[in-house]
Amino acid sequence: MIGGGHNGLVCAFYCARAGLRVLVLERRAIFGGAAITEEFAPGFRNSTASYTVSLLHPKVIAEMTLADHGLRIVERKMQNFLPLNERDYLAVGRGYTRSEVAKFSARDAARIDEFNARLAVLADAVREILLVTPPQAIETRWTQAVPELIKAGGLARRLGRLDTTAQRDLLALFGQSAGELLDGWFESDPIKAALGFDAIVGNYASPYGPGTGYVLLHHGIGEANGVKGAWGHAMGGMGAITQAMAVACRGLGVEIRTNAEVREVLVEKGRAVGVTAAGEAFRARAVVSNLNPKLLFGALVDPAALPADFRERIARYRCGSGTFRMNVALAELPRFACLPEAGDHLTAGIIMAPSLAYMDRAYSDARARGWSKAPIVEMLVPSVVDESLAPTGRHVASLFCQHVAPALPDGSSWDARKEEVADLMIDTVESFAPGFKASVIARASLSPLDLERTFGLTGGDIMHGALALDQLFSARPVLGNGNYRAPIPGLYMCGAGTHPGGGVSGIPGHNAAHEILKDLRRRGRRQSRSRDT
Ligand SMILES: Cc1cc2nc3c(=O)[nH]c(=O)nc-3n(C[C@H](O)[C@H](O)[C@H](O)COP(=O)(O)OP(=O)(O)OC[C@H]3O[C@@H](n4cnc5c(N)ncnc54)[C@H](O)[C@@H]3O)c2cc1C
Repeated sequence: MIGGGHNGLVCAFYCARAGLRVLVLERRAIFGGAAITEEFAPGFRNSTASYTVSLLHPKVIAEMTLADHGLRIVERKMQNFLPLNERDYLAVGRGYTRSEVAKFSARDAARIDEFNARLAVLADAVREILLVTPPQAIETRWTQAVPELIKAGGLARRLGRLDTTAQRDLLALFGQSAGELLDGWFESDPIKAALGFDAIVGNYASPYGPGTGYVLLHHGIGEANGVKGAWGHAMGGMGAITQAMAVACRGLGVEIRTNAEVREVLVEKGRAVGVTAAGEAFRARAVVSNLNPKLLFGALVDPAALPADFRERIARYRCGSGTFRMNVALAELPRFACLPEAGDHLTAGIIMAPSLAYMDRAYSDARARGWSKAPIVEMLVPSVVDESLAPTGRHVASLFCQHVAPALPDGSSWDARKEEVADLMIDTVESFAPGFKASVIARASLSPLDLERTFGLTGGDIMHGALALDQLFSARPVLGNGNYRAPIPGLYMCGAGTHPGGGVSGIPGHNAAHEILKDLRRRGRRQSRSRDT
Protein backbone atom coordinates (compact mmCIF):
# COMPACT_ATOMS: atom_id res chain seq x y z
CA MET A 1 0.00 0.00 0.00
CA ILE A 2 1.52 3.31 -1.08
CA GLY A 3 0.32 5.85 1.49
CA GLY A 4 -1.29 5.51 4.88
CA GLY A 5 -4.23 7.88 4.46
CA HIS A 6 -7.59 6.73 5.79
CA ASN A 7 -8.50 5.09 2.46
CA GLY A 8 -5.21 3.20 2.44
CA LEU A 9 -5.95 1.94 5.93
CA VAL A 10 -9.48 0.89 5.01
CA CYS A 11 -8.23 -0.94 1.92
CA ALA A 12 -5.45 -2.59 3.96
CA PHE A 13 -8.01 -3.74 6.53
CA TYR A 14 -10.28 -5.46 3.99
CA CYS A 15 -7.34 -7.08 2.19
CA ALA A 16 -5.89 -8.36 5.47
CA ARG A 17 -9.32 -9.59 6.58
CA ALA A 18 -9.36 -11.77 3.45
CA GLY A 19 -6.04 -13.28 4.48
CA LEU A 20 -3.52 -11.13 2.59
CA ARG A 21 -0.28 -9.89 4.14
CA VAL A 22 -0.35 -6.11 3.85
CA LEU A 23 2.46 -3.58 4.23
CA VAL A 24 1.51 0.11 4.34
CA LEU A 25 4.31 2.52 3.40
CA GLU A 26 3.64 6.09 4.52
CA ARG A 27 5.88 8.98 3.52
CA ARG A 28 5.27 11.11 6.60
CA ALA A 29 6.24 10.46 10.22
CA ILE A 30 2.51 10.25 10.97
CA PHE A 31 -0.08 8.12 9.16
CA GLY A 32 -3.66 9.17 8.50
CA GLY A 33 -3.17 11.49 5.51
CA ALA A 34 -5.56 14.42 5.73
CA ALA A 35 -7.39 12.84 8.69
CA ILE A 36 -5.04 13.51 11.60
CA THR A 37 -4.93 15.37 14.92
CA GLU A 38 -1.79 17.27 15.96
CA GLU A 39 -0.65 19.72 18.59
CA PHE A 40 -0.28 23.00 16.69
CA ALA A 41 0.61 25.21 19.67
CA PRO A 42 1.67 24.17 23.19
CA GLY A 43 -1.39 22.61 24.86
CA PHE A 44 -3.66 23.08 21.82
CA ARG A 45 -4.54 20.17 19.56
CA ASN A 46 -6.85 20.04 16.58
CA SER A 47 -7.59 18.22 13.37
CA THR A 48 -4.85 19.52 11.09
CA ALA A 49 -6.67 19.31 7.75
CA SER A 50 -10.11 17.66 7.50
CA TYR A 51 -12.16 18.68 10.51
CA THR A 52 -15.74 17.40 10.42
CA VAL A 53 -17.41 14.01 9.88
CA SER A 54 -20.40 12.89 7.88
CA LEU A 55 -19.20 10.98 4.84
CA LEU A 56 -17.50 8.14 6.79
CA HIS A 57 -19.54 5.17 5.66
CA PRO A 58 -21.50 3.30 8.36
CA LYS A 59 -20.46 -0.05 6.85
CA VAL A 60 -16.80 0.87 7.28
CA ILE A 61 -17.41 2.09 10.84
CA ALA A 62 -19.20 -1.15 11.72
CA GLU A 63 -16.93 -3.64 9.96
CA MET A 64 -13.73 -2.05 11.25
CA THR A 65 -15.41 -1.87 14.69
CA LEU A 66 -14.12 1.67 14.99
CA ALA A 67 -16.27 2.41 18.03
CA ASP A 68 -14.61 -0.49 19.88
CA HIS A 69 -11.27 1.04 18.98
CA GLY A 70 -12.17 4.37 20.56
CA LEU A 71 -14.01 6.34 17.87
CA ARG A 72 -16.84 8.47 19.21
CA ILE A 73 -18.71 10.91 17.00
CA VAL A 74 -20.91 13.62 18.46
CA GLU A 75 -23.48 15.46 16.41
CA ARG A 76 -23.50 19.20 16.10
CA LYS A 77 -26.30 20.70 18.20
CA MET A 78 -26.91 23.13 15.33
CA GLN A 79 -25.88 22.18 11.80
CA ASN A 80 -25.02 25.60 10.38
CA PHE A 81 -24.98 29.17 11.59
CA LEU A 82 -24.66 32.09 9.20
CA PRO A 83 -23.90 35.45 10.79
CA LEU A 84 -25.07 37.99 8.20
CA ASN A 85 -24.35 41.38 9.77
CA GLU A 86 -24.47 42.97 13.23
CA ARG A 87 -28.11 42.02 13.77
CA ASP A 88 -29.15 39.13 11.59
CA TYR A 89 -28.27 35.49 11.32
CA LEU A 90 -29.68 32.28 9.93
CA ALA A 91 -29.58 29.09 11.99
CA VAL A 92 -29.98 25.75 10.22
CA GLY A 93 -30.87 22.56 12.06
CA ARG A 94 -33.48 19.96 12.74
CA GLY A 95 -36.81 21.47 13.77
CA TYR A 96 -36.10 25.16 13.26
CA THR A 97 -34.74 25.79 9.75
CA ARG A 98 -38.19 26.64 8.48
CA SER A 99 -38.95 29.28 11.13
CA GLU A 100 -35.45 30.69 10.67
CA VAL A 101 -35.93 31.01 6.91
CA ALA A 102 -39.27 32.73 7.58
CA LYS A 103 -37.32 35.62 9.14
CA PHE A 104 -36.25 36.49 5.57
CA SER A 105 -39.00 35.14 3.31
CA ALA A 106 -42.36 33.53 4.00
CA ARG A 107 -42.28 32.09 0.48
CA ASP A 108 -38.93 30.42 1.05
CA ALA A 109 -40.04 29.09 4.42
CA ALA A 110 -42.98 27.43 2.71
CA ARG A 111 -40.61 25.73 0.23
CA ILE A 112 -37.63 24.68 2.33
CA ASP A 113 -39.08 21.41 3.64
CA GLU A 114 -40.01 20.29 0.13
CA PHE A 115 -36.57 21.23 -1.18
CA ASN A 116 -34.87 19.24 1.58
CA ALA A 117 -37.18 16.25 1.05
CA ARG A 118 -36.49 16.22 -2.70
CA LEU A 119 -32.74 16.55 -2.13
CA ALA A 120 -32.94 13.68 0.37
CA VAL A 121 -34.46 11.43 -2.31
CA LEU A 122 -31.49 12.17 -4.57
CA ALA A 123 -29.02 11.69 -1.73
CA ASP A 124 -30.55 8.25 -1.13
CA ALA A 125 -30.16 7.42 -4.83
CA VAL A 126 -26.48 8.35 -4.71
CA ARG A 127 -26.04 6.40 -1.44
CA GLU A 128 -27.12 3.28 -3.30
CA ILE A 129 -24.21 3.53 -5.70
CA LEU A 130 -21.49 4.51 -3.24
CA LEU A 131 -20.36 0.96 -2.59
CA VAL A 132 -20.71 -0.06 -6.23
CA THR A 133 -17.68 -0.26 -8.51
CA PRO A 134 -18.60 1.87 -11.52
CA PRO A 135 -19.07 -0.02 -14.80
CA GLN A 136 -16.30 0.39 -17.35
CA ALA A 137 -16.18 0.93 -21.08
CA ILE A 138 -14.55 -2.28 -22.41
CA GLU A 139 -13.40 -2.27 -26.02
CA THR A 140 -11.80 -5.64 -26.40
CA ARG A 141 -12.97 -8.90 -24.83
CA TRP A 142 -16.72 -9.60 -24.79
CA THR A 143 -16.22 -11.83 -21.73
CA GLN A 144 -15.30 -8.69 -19.83
CA ALA A 145 -17.77 -6.39 -21.57
CA VAL A 146 -20.85 -8.45 -20.65
CA PRO A 147 -20.48 -8.16 -16.85
CA GLU A 148 -19.93 -4.41 -17.25
CA LEU A 149 -23.09 -4.13 -19.32
CA ILE A 150 -25.03 -6.04 -16.69
CA LYS A 151 -23.67 -3.71 -14.02
CA ALA A 152 -24.67 -0.67 -16.09
CA GLY A 153 -28.11 -2.19 -16.58
CA GLY A 154 -28.50 -2.66 -12.82
CA LEU A 155 -27.60 0.94 -12.33
CA ALA A 156 -30.10 2.11 -14.91
CA ARG A 157 -32.78 -0.01 -13.16
CA ARG A 158 -31.93 1.66 -9.84
CA LEU A 159 -32.27 5.13 -11.32
CA GLY A 160 -35.39 3.99 -13.16
CA ARG A 161 -37.01 3.32 -9.77
CA LEU A 162 -36.95 7.06 -9.08
CA ASP A 163 -40.25 8.73 -9.93
CA THR A 164 -40.39 11.31 -12.73
CA THR A 165 -40.02 14.25 -10.36
CA ALA A 166 -36.87 12.78 -8.84
CA GLN A 167 -35.44 11.94 -12.25
CA ARG A 168 -36.03 15.53 -13.36
CA ASP A 169 -34.47 16.80 -10.13
CA LEU A 170 -31.43 14.59 -10.72
CA LEU A 171 -31.03 15.88 -14.24
CA ALA A 172 -31.33 19.47 -13.01
CA LEU A 173 -28.78 18.84 -10.30
CA PHE A 174 -26.28 17.39 -12.74
CA GLY A 175 -27.03 19.85 -15.52
CA GLN A 176 -27.47 23.13 -13.65
CA SER A 177 -25.21 25.08 -11.39
CA ALA A 178 -26.07 25.15 -7.71
CA GLY A 179 -26.75 28.88 -8.07
CA GLU A 180 -29.29 28.39 -10.87
CA LEU A 181 -30.95 25.59 -8.94
CA LEU A 182 -31.21 27.58 -5.72
CA ASP A 183 -32.34 30.77 -7.48
CA GLY A 184 -35.12 28.69 -8.98
CA TRP A 185 -36.30 27.56 -5.55
CA PHE A 186 -35.71 30.51 -3.25
CA GLU A 187 -35.75 34.31 -3.23
CA SER A 188 -33.86 35.20 -0.01
CA ASP A 189 -30.07 35.20 0.18
CA PRO A 190 -29.34 33.54 3.55
CA ILE A 191 -30.87 30.12 2.81
CA LYS A 192 -29.34 30.10 -0.66
CA ALA A 193 -25.95 30.83 0.94
CA ALA A 194 -26.39 28.10 3.56
CA LEU A 195 -27.20 25.51 0.89
CA GLY A 196 -24.86 26.90 -1.76
CA PHE A 197 -21.83 26.74 0.53
CA ASP A 198 -21.87 22.94 0.14
CA ALA A 199 -21.51 23.41 -3.62
CA ILE A 200 -18.19 25.22 -3.31
CA VAL A 201 -16.57 23.32 -0.43
CA GLY A 202 -13.37 21.88 -1.84
CA ASN A 203 -14.54 23.13 -5.23
CA TYR A 204 -12.75 26.12 -6.73
CA ALA A 205 -15.73 27.45 -8.65
CA SER A 206 -18.43 30.06 -8.58
CA PRO A 207 -21.70 28.65 -7.22
CA TYR A 208 -22.92 29.52 -10.73
CA GLY A 209 -20.24 27.31 -12.30
CA PRO A 210 -21.22 24.13 -14.18
CA GLY A 211 -21.20 20.95 -12.10
CA THR A 212 -21.62 22.73 -8.75
CA GLY A 213 -25.09 21.19 -8.37
CA TYR A 214 -23.52 17.76 -7.92
CA VAL A 215 -20.99 19.00 -5.36
CA LEU A 216 -23.89 20.35 -3.30
CA LEU A 217 -25.37 16.85 -3.28
CA HIS A 218 -21.98 15.22 -2.52
CA HIS A 219 -21.87 17.00 0.83
CA GLY A 220 -25.33 15.74 1.71
CA ILE A 221 -24.85 12.01 1.13
CA GLY A 222 -23.32 11.26 4.50
CA GLU A 223 -24.69 10.84 7.99
CA ALA A 224 -23.61 11.26 11.59
CA ASN A 225 -24.65 8.58 14.08
CA GLY A 226 -27.43 7.46 11.73
CA VAL A 227 -28.84 10.96 11.11
CA LYS A 228 -28.78 11.39 7.34
CA GLY A 229 -27.13 14.54 6.03
CA ALA A 230 -25.90 15.53 9.50
CA TRP A 231 -22.29 16.48 10.32
CA GLY A 232 -20.52 15.73 13.56
CA HIS A 233 -17.25 15.87 15.46
CA ALA A 234 -14.89 12.96 16.06
CA MET A 235 -13.84 13.20 19.71
CA GLY A 236 -10.11 13.79 19.77
CA GLY A 237 -10.24 15.21 16.24
CA MET A 238 -10.09 13.46 12.87
CA GLY A 239 -6.96 11.60 13.97
CA ALA A 240 -9.23 9.53 16.20
CA ILE A 241 -10.67 7.99 13.03
CA THR A 242 -7.33 6.93 11.56
CA GLN A 243 -5.96 5.85 14.95
CA ALA A 244 -8.97 3.54 15.37
CA MET A 245 -8.49 2.28 11.81
CA ALA A 246 -4.83 1.51 12.52
CA VAL A 247 -5.82 -0.56 15.58
CA ALA A 248 -8.25 -2.54 13.41
CA CYS A 249 -5.55 -3.04 10.76
CA ARG A 250 -2.81 -4.08 13.17
CA GLY A 251 -5.21 -6.54 14.77
CA LEU A 252 -5.19 -8.35 11.41
CA GLY A 253 -1.42 -8.22 11.07
CA VAL A 254 -1.13 -5.18 8.79
CA GLU A 255 2.27 -3.53 9.12
CA ILE A 256 2.27 0.27 8.94
CA ARG A 257 5.66 1.86 8.31
CA THR A 258 6.07 5.62 8.55
CA ASN A 259 8.95 7.71 7.14
CA ALA A 260 8.81 5.33 4.19
CA GLU A 261 8.32 7.35 1.03
CA VAL A 262 7.69 5.23 -2.04
CA ARG A 263 9.91 6.42 -4.87
CA GLU A 264 8.93 4.12 -7.69
CA VAL A 265 6.43 1.47 -8.72
CA LEU A 266 8.37 -1.48 -10.10
CA VAL A 267 7.00 -2.74 -13.41
CA GLU A 268 8.28 -5.97 -14.99
CA LYS A 269 6.94 -7.43 -18.22
CA GLY A 270 4.08 -4.95 -18.14
CA ARG A 271 2.99 -5.87 -14.60
CA ALA A 272 3.41 -3.97 -11.31
CA VAL A 273 5.47 -6.21 -9.05
CA GLY A 274 6.43 -3.97 -6.16
CA VAL A 275 7.82 -0.62 -5.07
CA THR A 276 11.01 0.95 -3.83
CA ALA A 277 10.94 2.91 -0.59
CA ALA A 278 13.60 4.07 1.84
CA GLY A 279 16.31 2.40 -0.23
CA GLU A 280 14.60 -1.00 -0.20
CA ALA A 281 12.64 -2.90 -2.82
CA PHE A 282 9.38 -4.54 -1.73
CA ARG A 283 7.79 -7.12 -3.99
CA ALA A 284 4.07 -7.78 -3.87
CA ARG A 285 1.28 -9.55 -5.73
CA ALA A 286 -0.64 -6.28 -5.79
CA VAL A 287 0.52 -2.68 -5.46
CA VAL A 288 -2.15 -0.28 -4.26
CA SER A 289 -1.90 3.49 -4.33
CA ASN A 290 -3.66 5.77 -1.87
CA LEU A 291 -2.26 8.82 -3.69
CA ASN A 292 -3.83 11.42 -5.91
CA PRO A 293 -3.66 9.69 -9.34
CA LYS A 294 -1.84 12.67 -10.79
CA LEU A 295 0.91 12.22 -8.21
CA LEU A 296 1.04 8.44 -8.65
CA PHE A 297 1.30 8.43 -12.43
CA GLY A 298 3.26 11.68 -12.65
CA ALA A 299 5.97 10.84 -10.13
CA LEU A 300 6.10 7.13 -9.30
CA VAL A 301 5.35 5.29 -12.54
CA ASP A 302 7.65 5.13 -15.57
CA PRO A 303 5.73 7.03 -18.29
CA ALA A 304 6.78 4.39 -20.83
CA ALA A 305 4.69 1.85 -18.89
CA LEU A 306 1.49 3.84 -19.48
CA PRO A 307 -0.66 4.12 -22.63
CA ALA A 308 -0.13 7.53 -24.24
CA ASP A 309 -3.80 8.53 -24.11
CA PHE A 310 -4.06 7.68 -20.41
CA ARG A 311 -0.88 9.64 -19.68
CA GLU A 312 -2.25 12.71 -21.45
CA ARG A 313 -5.56 12.54 -19.65
CA ILE A 314 -3.91 12.21 -16.27
CA ALA A 315 -1.73 15.21 -17.12
CA ARG A 316 -4.98 17.14 -17.75
CA TYR A 317 -6.76 15.73 -14.65
CA ARG A 318 -7.90 18.86 -12.82
CA CYS A 319 -6.66 19.41 -9.26
CA GLY A 320 -6.80 22.59 -7.18
CA SER A 321 -9.66 23.03 -4.73
CA GLY A 322 -8.64 26.57 -3.75
CA THR A 323 -8.44 25.84 -0.05
CA PHE A 324 -6.64 27.68 2.76
CA ARG A 325 -6.79 26.04 6.20
CA MET A 326 -6.03 27.51 9.61
CA ASN A 327 -6.07 26.35 13.20
CA VAL A 328 -6.23 28.99 15.89
CA ALA A 329 -5.74 28.79 19.64
CA LEU A 330 -8.18 31.06 21.45
CA ALA A 331 -8.14 32.67 24.86
CA GLU A 332 -11.95 32.76 24.85
CA LEU A 333 -14.97 31.82 22.79
CA PRO A 334 -15.88 34.01 19.81
CA ARG A 335 -18.77 36.42 20.39
CA PHE A 336 -20.78 37.13 17.25
CA ALA A 337 -22.21 40.64 17.03
CA CYS A 338 -25.58 39.19 15.97
CA LEU A 339 -25.62 36.53 18.74
CA PRO A 340 -22.98 37.30 21.38
CA GLU A 341 -23.78 34.78 24.08
CA ALA A 342 -22.44 31.22 23.92
CA GLY A 343 -24.97 28.68 22.68
CA ASP A 344 -25.64 25.86 20.26
CA HIS A 345 -24.48 28.02 17.35
CA LEU A 346 -20.91 27.55 18.55
CA THR A 347 -21.20 23.80 17.82
CA ALA A 348 -22.24 24.56 14.22
CA GLY A 349 -20.36 24.97 10.99
CA ILE A 350 -20.29 28.77 11.09
CA ILE A 351 -20.40 30.03 7.52
CA MET A 352 -19.13 33.52 6.89
CA ALA A 353 -20.35 34.08 3.34
CA PRO A 354 -23.82 35.65 3.41
CA SER A 355 -24.94 35.20 -0.20
CA LEU A 356 -24.26 33.38 -3.46
CA ALA A 357 -23.20 36.70 -4.98
CA TYR A 358 -20.54 36.99 -2.22
CA MET A 359 -19.25 33.51 -3.11
CA ASP A 360 -19.29 34.28 -6.81
CA ARG A 361 -17.24 37.43 -6.15
CA ALA A 362 -14.81 35.55 -3.92
CA TYR A 363 -14.16 33.18 -6.80
CA SER A 364 -13.71 35.82 -9.50
CA ASP A 365 -11.46 37.90 -7.22
CA ALA A 366 -9.33 34.83 -6.51
CA ARG A 367 -9.02 34.07 -10.21
CA ALA A 368 -7.89 37.61 -10.88
CA ARG A 369 -5.78 38.38 -7.83
CA GLY A 370 -5.19 35.17 -5.87
CA TRP A 371 -7.77 35.79 -3.16
CA SER A 372 -10.69 38.04 -2.34
CA LYS A 373 -10.72 40.84 0.21
CA ALA A 374 -14.02 39.27 1.26
CA PRO A 375 -13.12 35.57 1.45
CA ILE A 376 -15.33 32.62 2.38
CA VAL A 377 -14.61 31.27 5.85
CA GLU A 378 -16.24 28.37 7.62
CA MET A 379 -15.31 28.19 11.29
CA LEU A 380 -15.80 25.38 13.77
CA VAL A 381 -14.98 25.56 17.46
CA PRO A 382 -14.57 21.86 18.28
CA SER A 383 -13.32 22.49 21.83
CA VAL A 384 -16.90 23.47 22.72
CA VAL A 385 -17.83 19.79 22.52
CA ASP A 386 -14.36 18.26 23.06
CA GLU A 387 -12.40 19.36 26.11
CA SER A 388 -9.41 17.19 25.13
CA LEU A 389 -8.33 19.74 22.52
CA ALA A 390 -7.44 22.80 24.62
CA PRO A 391 -6.44 23.74 28.17
CA THR A 392 -9.38 24.45 30.49
CA GLY A 393 -11.09 27.71 29.64
CA ARG A 394 -9.26 28.00 26.31
CA HIS A 395 -10.48 26.96 22.86
CA VAL A 396 -9.42 25.92 19.39
CA ALA A 397 -11.07 26.92 16.13
CA SER A 398 -10.75 25.42 12.67
CA LEU A 399 -10.93 27.94 9.85
CA PHE A 400 -11.69 26.37 6.52
CA CYS A 401 -11.20 29.11 3.97
CA GLN A 402 -12.40 28.60 0.46
CA HIS A 403 -11.46 30.29 -2.78
CA VAL A 404 -7.84 31.19 -2.85
CA ALA A 405 -6.03 30.51 -6.12
CA PRO A 406 -4.18 27.17 -6.10
CA ALA A 407 -1.26 29.01 -7.73
CA LEU A 408 -1.03 32.79 -7.45
CA PRO A 409 -1.80 34.57 -10.74
CA ASP A 410 1.12 37.02 -10.38
CA GLY A 411 3.54 34.11 -10.14
CA SER A 412 4.57 34.80 -6.53
CA SER A 413 4.97 31.90 -4.13
CA TRP A 414 2.34 31.13 -1.53
CA ASP A 415 5.18 31.13 1.00
CA ALA A 416 5.59 34.86 0.42
CA ARG A 417 1.88 35.68 0.79
CA LYS A 418 0.62 33.15 3.33
CA GLU A 419 0.79 35.29 6.48
CA GLU A 420 -0.93 38.20 4.72
CA VAL A 421 -3.80 35.92 3.72
CA ALA A 422 -3.93 34.37 7.20
CA ASP A 423 -4.31 37.92 8.63
CA LEU A 424 -7.16 38.53 6.21
CA MET A 425 -8.96 35.37 7.34
CA ILE A 426 -8.67 36.43 10.99
CA ASP A 427 -9.92 39.93 10.07
CA THR A 428 -12.86 38.36 8.25
CA VAL A 429 -13.92 36.49 11.39
CA GLU A 430 -13.31 39.67 13.40
CA SER A 431 -15.78 41.54 11.19
CA PHE A 432 -18.53 39.16 12.33
CA ALA A 433 -17.24 38.48 15.85
CA PRO A 434 -15.55 41.61 17.28
CA GLY A 435 -12.75 40.73 19.71
CA PHE A 436 -11.86 37.52 17.89
CA LYS A 437 -8.52 38.84 16.67
CA ALA A 438 -7.43 39.85 20.17
CA SER A 439 -8.37 36.38 21.48
CA VAL A 440 -5.97 34.56 19.14
CA ILE A 441 -3.07 33.11 21.14
CA ALA A 442 -1.45 31.18 18.29
CA ARG A 443 -2.23 30.13 14.76
CA ALA A 444 -1.05 27.60 12.18
CA SER A 445 -1.84 28.07 8.50
CA LEU A 446 -1.76 25.82 5.46
CA SER A 447 -1.73 27.42 2.03
CA PRO A 448 -2.49 25.34 -1.09
CA LEU A 449 1.27 24.92 -1.47
CA ASP A 450 1.57 23.66 2.12
CA LEU A 451 -1.27 21.20 1.52
CA GLU A 452 0.62 19.87 -1.48
CA ARG A 453 4.00 19.70 0.26
CA THR A 454 2.77 18.31 3.56
CA PHE A 455 0.11 15.85 2.47
CA GLY A 456 0.95 15.18 -1.17
CA LEU A 457 -2.33 16.85 -2.19
CA THR A 458 -1.56 17.86 -5.78
CA GLY A 459 -2.50 21.50 -6.38
CA GLY A 460 -3.62 21.54 -2.73
CA ASP A 461 -6.73 19.66 -3.84
CA ILE A 462 -8.50 18.31 -0.78
CA MET A 463 -10.59 15.92 -2.92
CA HIS A 464 -7.67 14.43 -4.96
CA GLY A 465 -9.17 16.03 -8.07
CA ALA A 466 -12.17 18.20 -8.90
CA LEU A 467 -15.56 16.57 -8.38
CA ALA A 468 -16.56 17.53 -11.91
CA LEU A 469 -18.85 15.47 -14.09
CA ASP A 470 -15.98 14.38 -16.33
CA GLN A 471 -14.02 13.23 -13.26
CA LEU A 472 -16.72 11.27 -11.45
CA PHE A 473 -18.01 7.70 -11.22
CA SER A 474 -16.78 5.58 -14.20
CA ALA A 475 -14.57 8.51 -15.22
CA ARG A 476 -12.74 8.94 -11.89
CA PRO A 477 -9.88 9.41 -12.50
CA VAL A 478 -10.13 8.51 -16.21
CA LEU A 479 -12.89 6.77 -18.17
CA GLY A 480 -11.90 3.13 -18.62
CA ASN A 481 -9.98 3.11 -15.32
CA GLY A 482 -12.79 4.06 -12.96
CA ASN A 483 -12.83 0.59 -11.40
CA TYR A 484 -9.79 1.09 -9.13
CA ARG A 485 -7.48 -0.58 -11.67
CA ALA A 486 -4.57 1.29 -13.23
CA PRO A 487 -3.75 0.54 -16.87
CA ILE A 488 -0.86 -1.60 -15.56
CA PRO A 489 -1.99 -5.03 -14.29
CA GLY A 490 -1.24 -5.49 -10.60
CA LEU A 491 -1.48 -1.74 -9.85
CA TYR A 492 -4.60 -0.42 -8.11
CA MET A 493 -5.89 2.93 -6.86
CA CYS A 494 -7.81 3.29 -3.60
CA GLY A 495 -7.67 7.01 -2.76
CA ALA A 496 -10.08 9.90 -3.07
CA GLY A 497 -9.17 10.23 -6.76
CA THR A 498 -11.40 7.21 -7.39
CA HIS A 499 -15.18 6.72 -7.01
CA PRO A 500 -16.92 8.28 -5.13
CA GLY A 501 -14.30 10.97 -4.58
CA GLY A 502 -13.06 13.11 -1.74
CA GLY A 503 -13.97 13.29 1.90
CA VAL A 504 -13.24 11.06 4.83
CA SER A 505 -15.54 8.27 3.69
CA GLY A 506 -13.41 5.12 3.48
CA ILE A 507 -15.49 4.14 0.46
CA PRO A 508 -12.74 4.17 -2.21
CA GLY A 509 -10.60 2.00 0.09
CA HIS A 510 -13.49 -0.38 0.69
CA ASN A 511 -14.41 -0.73 -2.98
CA ALA A 512 -10.81 -1.03 -4.18
CA ALA A 513 -10.18 -3.93 -1.77
CA HIS A 514 -13.18 -5.72 -3.24
CA GLU A 515 -11.73 -5.45 -6.77
CA ILE A 516 -8.20 -6.41 -5.69
CA LEU A 517 -9.47 -9.52 -3.93
CA LYS A 518 -11.58 -10.44 -6.96
CA ASP A 519 -8.51 -10.22 -9.24
CA LEU A 520 -6.23 -12.12 -6.88
CA ARG A 521 -8.77 -14.94 -6.52
CA ARG A 522 -9.19 -15.10 -10.30
CA ARG A 523 -5.43 -15.14 -10.77
CA GLY A 524 -5.05 -17.84 -8.11
CA ARG A 525 -7.66 -19.99 -9.90
CA ARG A 526 -5.91 -19.48 -13.26
CA GLN A 527 -2.55 -20.42 -11.78
CA SER A 528 -3.89 -23.57 -10.11
CA ARG A 529 -5.64 -24.60 -13.37
CA SER A 530 -2.41 -24.21 -15.33
CA ARG A 531 -0.57 -26.25 -12.67
CA ASP A 532 -3.20 -29.03 -12.99
CA THR A 533 -2.87 -29.26 -16.78
C1 LIG B 1 -7.81 21.15 4.55
C2 LIG B 1 -8.74 20.00 4.33
C3 LIG B 1 -10.00 20.00 4.90
C4 LIG B 1 -10.86 18.93 4.68
N1 LIG B 1 -12.05 18.87 5.35
C5 LIG B 1 -12.78 17.74 5.30
C6 LIG B 1 -13.82 17.51 6.22
O1 LIG B 1 -14.05 18.31 7.12
N2 LIG B 1 -14.55 16.37 6.11
C7 LIG B 1 -14.28 15.43 5.16
O2 LIG B 1 -14.97 14.41 5.09
N3 LIG B 1 -13.26 15.60 4.29
C8 LIG B 1 -12.49 16.71 4.37
N4 LIG B 1 -11.40 16.86 3.57
C9 LIG B 1 -11.17 15.89 2.49
C10 LIG B 1 -10.58 14.61 2.99
O3 LIG B 1 -9.77 14.83 4.11
C11 LIG B 1 -9.75 13.92 1.91
O4 LIG B 1 -10.46 13.87 0.70
C12 LIG B 1 -9.40 12.51 2.35
O5 LIG B 1 -8.78 12.54 3.62
C13 LIG B 1 -8.50 11.81 1.36
O6 LIG B 1 -8.15 10.57 1.94
P1 LIG B 1 -7.22 9.52 1.23
O7 LIG B 1 -6.95 8.44 2.20
O8 LIG B 1 -7.80 9.13 -0.08
O9 LIG B 1 -5.87 10.31 0.90
P2 LIG B 1 -4.89 11.16 1.82
O10 LIG B 1 -5.52 11.50 3.10
O11 LIG B 1 -4.40 12.28 0.97
O12 LIG B 1 -3.69 10.15 2.11
C14 LIG B 1 -2.67 9.87 1.18
C15 LIG B 1 -1.44 9.48 1.96
O13 LIG B 1 -0.39 9.13 1.06
C16 LIG B 1 0.84 9.61 1.60
N5 LIG B 1 1.83 9.70 0.52
C17 LIG B 1 1.92 10.62 -0.46
N6 LIG B 1 2.96 10.33 -1.28
C18 LIG B 1 3.54 9.20 -0.80
C19 LIG B 1 4.62 8.39 -1.22
N7 LIG B 1 5.35 8.68 -2.31
N8 LIG B 1 4.94 7.31 -0.49
C20 LIG B 1 4.22 6.97 0.62
N9 LIG B 1 3.17 7.71 1.06
C21 LIG B 1 2.82 8.80 0.35
C22 LIG B 1 0.45 10.94 2.18
O14 LIG B 1 1.42 11.40 3.12
C23 LIG B 1 -0.89 10.59 2.83
O15 LIG B 1 -0.70 10.11 4.14
C24 LIG B 1 -10.48 17.87 3.83
C25 LIG B 1 -9.19 17.84 3.30
C26 LIG B 1 -8.31 18.89 3.55
C27 LIG B 1 -6.92 18.83 3.02
